[in-house]
Amino acid sequence: MATLLDDLSAALGPGGVVTGAEAQDLAKSPWTRLGSPVAVLRPRSTVEVSAILRLARAAGQPVVPWGGRTGLVDGAQADGALALSLERMNAIEEIDPATGVMRVQAGCVLQTACEAAEAAGLLLPLDLGSRGSATIGGNISTNAGGNRVLRYGMMRDMVLGLEAVMADGTVVDALNPLIKNNAGYDIKQLFIGTEGTLGVVTRAVLRLRPKPASHNVAMLAVDTFEALSPLLRRLDRGLGGALSAFEVLWPEFYKLVTTPPARGTPPLPRGHAFYVLTEAMGGDIHSDGERFEQVLAGALEEGEIVDAVIAKSDSERAALWALRDDVGQTSRDGPILAFDVSLKIAQMETYVADVRAAMSAGGADGDRLVVFGHLGDGNLHLIAPMVDRTGPARRALEEAVYAPLRTRGGSISAEHGIGLMKRAFLPWSRSPEELAVMRTLKAALDPGDILNPGKVLGSAEA
Ligand code: ZN
Repeated sequence: MATLLDDLSAALGPGGVVTGAEAQDLAKSPWTRLGSPVAVLRPRSTVEVSAILRLARAAGQPVVPWGGRTGLVDGAQADGALALSLERMNAIEEIDPATGVMRVQAGCVLQTACEAAEAAGLLLPLDLGSRGSATIGGNISTNAGGNRVLRYGMMRDMVLGLEAVMADGTVVDALNPLIKNNAGYDIKQLFIGTEGTLGVVTRAVLRLRPKPASHNVAMLAVDTFEALSPLLRRLDRGLGGALSAFEVLWPEFYKLVTTPPARGTPPLPRGHAFYVLTEAMGGDIHSDGERFEQVLAGALEEGEIVDAVIAKSDSERAALWALRDDVGQTSRDGPILAFDVSLKIAQMETYVADVRAAMSAGGADGDRLVVFGHLGDGNLHLIAPMVDRTGPARRALEEAVYAPLRTRGGSISAEHGIGLMKRAFLPWSRSPEELAVMRTLKAALDPGDILNPGKVLGSAEA
């Protein structure tokens, strides 16, 4: 190990290899368990990332890529491994307003990239709670979702091309800037959503969108689950493609984010069955607001919504979004376990009831389950009080959440990924044949099993 660290120091230069107490400090995160890395490596270029992987592979030493360390499934756990932090590769290399394309390094923080796009009159539409820490490389490796998937898709849909370093140090330049390119296999997809198990993303070419001229936001009260789907369809149809968010807050979540110590105040009275935060981003600042109001008025007339408040200023819009973003309140009474499932909207009401019943049957309190989510994408977040971290009660809670998905054809992960936390349940969402293809890819591209080993599929020998 000493030889390897010496070689890495020589390759990376000053500040490139962090060890000891300083490395352990970097491995502290409120979000995720990062373990105890042998060293934290901080390359400044793709050439240096390549050198790291060449040296690590020769030494049989595992490497765990680190982005913003805001993941929720222990996907960056680096116990006994070299943590490869992309933090010093954070440049925005180019923005081309004419084609709406941005080229960035993987360590660039999402919010920084969004602000740079905006300064150029464009929109990088990925939006999620950890925007101030999460990095573009991490967003790509986890195929991040967030609040505007309904309109703009997931991270996968924003990546035109990328550069990645393979396990043997080979640099794959797939920095394609074209929207259409069917010349053979789409190599970039191997590195999107594969959680750093097939390669390390070092740079990316992202597709930007025109910055919307109008931005309308409302909080709606809905009294029956059955009204949510017709309401979503009405907004989608009536707003002519401008609908950019349809976030549903179950009443427990609404109460949490509108009562102290939360800073939010209730924009609508408590006591409704559901609250919907909806948003439209359009091209006409003069007529879009009127259209937004008209569509909501129609929903009110039909009884799909029973109350509504429309934001009238930037600060009111921000205040409504702040309620949805104040997910931290879910852990104010103690540690939590967060789930991110997806299933058909029509099945959600019975699904949530089944989860609560299964939790209660297993000795947990089903009434303490807090539910909210990107309903427009079929994605629910379920937050349960943390039971013991590793014991049978934890397993029972996970089964209570995941088992009712199997009969409904749902997914155990809509956005967070698998990491270490959900490996045992991956076969509940993927067929044996799908898993076999995943293993074939992993064995072919990382035969030494040094890239984020154990994540997603488990270790090679398991
Ligand atoms: Zn989410």
